[in-house]
Amino acid sequence: MSTVPSNPRRSASLQRHFLWLLLSVAGLFAAGIALSLWFSLQSSGQTQQRLLELEATQARVSLVRLLDYYHRLIENTARDPELLDLMRVGSLEEQQQWAVSRQRLLPDLLGLALINPQGDVLGEAVTLRVGPLCQLEMKRADILTSARPLLHREVAGLEHFDLVSPVRETGGEIVGGVFLSIRLTRLQRVIEDSLHPGHALILTDATGDTIVRKGEVEGALREVRLDIPETGWTLLAQAPLQRFTRDGETQVLAGLLTLGAVLLLLGATMLRLRRSMLRDIVSTRDALTALARDEPVPAIVPHYVEFEPAAADINLIARHLQEQRARLEHLSLTDPLTGLPNRRAFETHFPLALGLAERQRPVALVLFDIDHFKTVNDRYGHAVGDQVLLALAQSLKELTRRADLAARLAGDEFVVLLSGLDAAGVRVWHQRLADHFRNELNALGLDAQTTLSAGQTWLGDTASDTMNTALVRADRALYQAKALGRDQLVQDGPPAAGAAE
Ligand code: GH3
Ligand code: MG
Repeated sequence: MSTVPSNPRRSASLQRHFLWLLLSVAGLFAAGIALSLWFSLQSSGQTQQRLLELEATQARVSLVRLLDYYHRLIENTARDPELLDLMRVGSLEEQQQWAVSRQRLLPDLLGLALINPQGDVLGEAVTLRVGPLCQLEMKRADILTSARPLLHREVAGLEHFDLVSPVRETGGEIVGGVFLSIRLTRLQRVIEDSLHPGHALILTDATGDTIVRKGEVEGALREVRLDIPETGWTLLAQAPLQRFTRDGETQVLAGLLTLGAVLLLLGATMLRLRRSMLRDIVSTRDALTALARDEPVPAIVPHYVEFEPAAADINLIARHLQEQRARLEHLSLTDPLTGLPNRRAFETHFPLALGLAERQRPVALVLFDIDHFKTVNDRYGHAVGDQVLLALAQSLKELTRRADLAARLAGDEFVVLLSGLDAAGVRVWHQRLADHFRNELNALGLDAQTTLSAGQTWLGDTASDTMNTALVRADRALYQAKALGRDQLVQDGPPAAGAAE
């Protein structure tokens, strides 16, 4: 009994391997895309930050330039030698007149006035548009030496900042100052001109209060803070905290689409691969199972070229085995000496003949035995005996139709099944056989005295006829033929009803 060798290792699952492969490739792709998105996110954030810094820097440059302009304006004015004379010897009226004429020349100015070293306005404060709070502030001791702008947002519509520059004698002694008041709308315009859409620019004072602003950013935001030198002011630039720029979004979308397409393609390829491979494996397994069960083996036609050598081997083995099986089958049904069907073949064929007899067709069973065959063996030797057996087999082959059967049962005993003959027909046939056998023996130069005895019966003689009962009847008739002096046929009763052709 054959045993299946046990596998020392646990068998791996092809399906699981495919799944792992699919997941690994998909994971690698996802990781690659995630990495590229992360880089793009980083660079997108850095780009946004750089743009905001640029915006803030440009706004600050514009603000500083504007403040410089006013500083230079007021300083140049304060250095005017004519102004020194006016401060020294001019009347209040002349001083006021000077301020009014200058005021007209400069746009965006709210007020312009000359002040004495104590901070008093030289002329009428109302005419020169110097508010009471500004006047109060000018009393401060350091007012003429501080370069810081002074903010005033108390009166709606008149929000402004003040600048003061000292007027000095040639020796440096301060004889008064020039006061300049500029509307905050001037700063507002600078902010507006520098603003990018969707962003906010806010100018705050030293306490963090808003001086001017433009734009509003809600939610999460990124921010850049820049100090405006010598003012104590701070410029804030704000922008919404976007995770992605438009380019980044396109990149994410493209990445996801690529991932989806890759997964689809991989999945479809894997499924196809798996189906085709499994088909090859299953057809190989079916062929091997059929081989093991002695069933007809379907030829394997592999899908993949890699399976071809194994398939070719299995197909070859299957063909060899089938040929061998057919040969064995033939051998097991054939008498080796004469090449006639043997007893087994007779047993196999018999039910067909019996079926024919049961359908009212006469089938005669004739049993032959060579007379005194032992004597032939004894006298001429076993080889000659074999020649006699072969001569009889030859005669039987030639005189038996394809529908009939002649077989060697054992030793010198042969049997024939003849269909469609009546008793007389069987006798004629028997005579022809005896003549043919004699001629065969003559042709071999053998003793022509070797004869045949035959006993015949009809199949289906009884309702429950079988091979054994039929053989018993034929044997009885054969025994009678021997008893009656051999070389003759004894028929066992008439054929069953409906016989004769
Ligand atoms: P009978 O007329 O009563 O049949 O006498 P017989 O001598 O023929 O007796 P039987 O039929 O019983 O003898 C059969 C003999 O056939 C016995 C055996 O030695 C011989 N024999 C059986 N098989 C072979 C064979 O293959 N070759 C040869 N040469 N002889 C065989
Ligand atoms: Mg005999």
